[in-house]
Amino acid sequence: MTDRQGHLFPEDIPAWELDAAASTRAAAVVLTEAPWGPYHYRIPDAFAEQLQVGMRVKVGLGKAHRDMVGYCVAIEVVPQAPDRLKPIEAVIDAQPICSLHLLKLVQWMSQYYLTPLGQVLEAVIPAGVRSQAGTRQRVLLVPSATASDSLLVDRLPTRQRQILQQLILAGQPLEGEVLRQLTGCSSAPIQRLREAGFIETRTERVFEAGRADQESVPLVAQPALTADQRLALVAIRDALDSSQHQTILLHGVTGSGKTEVYMQAIEHALTFRRQSIVLVPEISLTPQTRTRFQSRFGQVAVMHSHMSDGERHYQWRRISEGEARVVIGARSAVFAPVPHLGLIILDEEHENSFKQDTIPRYHARDVALHRAALEHVPLVLGSATPSMESFRRGLLGQYRVVTLPRRIHNRPLPNVTTIDLRTRKSDPHQGAISTPLFEAMRDTLREEGQIILLLNRRGFATSIQCPACGYVVSCPDCDLHLTHHHEGSKAVCHYCDYMIPTPPVCPKCKFDGIRYTGLGTQRLEMEVKRRFPQATVARMDSDTMRKPGSHERTLSEFRGGRIRILLGTQMIAKGLDFPNVLLVGVINADTALHFPDFRAAEKTFQLVTQVAGRTGRGDRPGRVLVQTFSPEHPAIAFACHHDYQGFMGQELAIREKFGYPPYGSLARIIVRGPELMSTESFAEQVGKQIGKLRSQLGLDQVRVLGPAAPPIARLRGNHRFHLLLLAEDPGQLHRLLTRLQSELKPPKEVLYVIDVDALDML
Ligand code: ADP
Ligand code: ZN
Repeated sequence: MTDRQGHLFPEDIPAWELDAAASTRAAAVVLTEAPWGPYHYRIPDAFAEQLQVGMRVKVGLGKAHRDMVGYCVAIEVVPQAPDRLKPIEAVIDAQPICSLHLLKLVQWMSQYYLTPLGQVLEAVIPAGVRSQAGTRQRVLLVPSATASDSLLVDRLPTRQRQILQQLILAGQPLEGEVLRQLTGCSSAPIQRLREAGFIETRTERVFEAGRADQESVPLVAQPALTADQRLALVAIRDALDSSQHQTILLHGVTGSGKTEVYMQAIEHALTFRRQSIVLVPEISLTPQTRTRFQSRFGQVAVMHSHMSDGERHYQWRRISEGEARVVIGARSAVFAPVPHLGLIILDEEHENSFKQDTIPRYHARDVALHRAALEHVPLVLGSATPSMESFRRGLLGQYRVVTLPRRIHNRPLPNVTTIDLRTRKSDPHQGAISTPLFEAMRDTLREEGQIILLLNRRGFATSIQCPACGYVVSCPDCDLHLTHHHEGSKAVCHYCDYMIPTPPVCPKCKFDGIRYTGLGTQRLEMEVKRRFPQATVARMDSDTMRKPGSHERTLSEFRGGRIRILLGTQMIAKGLDFPNVLLVGVINADTALHFPDFRAAEKTFQLVTQVAGRTGRGDRPGRVLVQTFSPEHPAIAFACHHDYQGFMGQELAIREKFGYPPYGSLARIIVRGPELMSTESFAEQVGKQIGKLRSQLGLDQVRVLGPAAPPIARLRGNHRFHLLLLAEDPGQLHRLLTRLQSELKPPKEVLYVIDVDALDML
């Protein structure tokens, strides 16, 4: 058994203790599964030259010598006799799979997100890269040293001599197949030449043929910037020229030309041969965005979640060889292995999708910040509605704030009005569309304009209830109602995908008048089609957008004007730039407002502002109608007045009062298990342990809420409990969590996760 090494980089050992007999060159190795290590392994002479930090190795673990894969994270001399360490068995990679920069970044992540380093590495380096997907091993033939001895060559049979001369003439290693074709020979004489030592072989990995490179897009020249854009660009260029890290918060209203500023900043970074990474929410990775960057830069690597392992590996390789000048991708592109990073841009920085909801639960914005600092480059965060975290850092002077307060060409922001749903009782149409919204839609269609309708709930009806006995059809595994889907008449759980045919009669009392209540996008679509039979309507939600390419197709039909009304979930609220959209209707602005989440108001404000931003982007002004039961709620009222500052001012005061982020940090601990009793009692034990550590370590700043049942108290057959930890000083919180994690031993079947900087409260 090798010794456990507590620290990766131990304190320097005094020279007199480093007795030569008891010192060994060793690799510190973190394993890719538990126990994670790090452990030291001796480096046998055979690998001494080959092994580098960042490569994967094969090692044996424990007395049973279990085969394990690990990453070499350091090479150092340890004060131990060689025979006390197990050797590295094999080196897997020919090149480091993880650069030194990336290694530093993941070490920080491992510590900050309380996740073993090996687990972070496995999550951060794509599976396709680890398995070298899409490549094959190629055997190449090269002339050996013997082949330059003309006396020996002259003595070869004619056929063999010709083949060897052909290979020498080629001036480069050839595959056997190619050499056979060139000389018209069989494999026998080549084999004989190899046996006689005239030809040697060498293997290398190549990408399989048929990899489609990007279609080329005609390049487009850059427009002259507006005065506001120029100021923003100057701020970023100053940061680039300083070769120092700085974060710039680009707060620009919707349609103010942020993307153009990004592109010219990237161009500046290219003048000193540095690559840029642009992070966008997955939803914004539309062809429109890609084309825009491709038509400016040509060589762009796009990374999205629908790539095959082979494609991902290919892109990773292209990027690490410096071939892509710009990398655009969702969250995980923050790890793109660009060799000379110049700039990181994170667009729509307020989006929750930048936080990963599986281990490691990192936030791409924080990782980007850390990477930019490590590599001394600027980070640009852009948004029309910056998150409260970033807004406050701007106020504190930690970020430099630049604003684009106007739309391009001084186009006005749309006029936003609310429709109070409480006063609708007299409305003869009891559907989803109120009379004022109906009239606005009718007028817009008459004026040849296009319409976007937002409803943030998919399905037909959000609950299926028996009016006779009150029974509600629910998921057997989750604490949630099933949603009725009209297509195929099925009832679906939106969390675990449990699905049954929608019961025709009440499963409990057999009453045959079961009712579908609650409005989803399918029902809205039906209503729109019924009331506007002439207009072409398309629905965009995760049900209609399952097939690859459907997103693109629908958007391009909308762009071309063949679709007049586009309705859907938040998918349609963001990033789209269609000049002919003259009306945006929000069917129910309150869907997220009453969530048991302290960020509910912020999310609602952002959603209404963003969807409103989809109109008035052309020559004709746009308008927005927001249907709501709470028009006086600040999140809605401020959004209607385009008053970001006003909303932030009020909301910050509330956050401060309760000590919620951005005042201090937050972590959430979720405990789950199949059995209620053991799960609950472990959650209570966690609470007690936190209390004990608080007083033991003197961390009186840390506040604990819970354990309590979260809004979704049962999920996929598991009972759930959660605790929220808040602290003004993030250091205190981190110390407590680190200790807690080392001490907690949940019973079998009960699991817990620590979600640092949690966004999800359900
Ligand atoms: P944002 O990202 O802030 O929503 P965009 O960058 O998408 O804004 O810009 C909105 C529109 O204005 C786009 O169609 C873009 O091509 C155009 N645009 C941006 N900057 C300029 C400029 N300086 N001159 C003319 N048009 C511009
Ligand atoms: Zn379920």
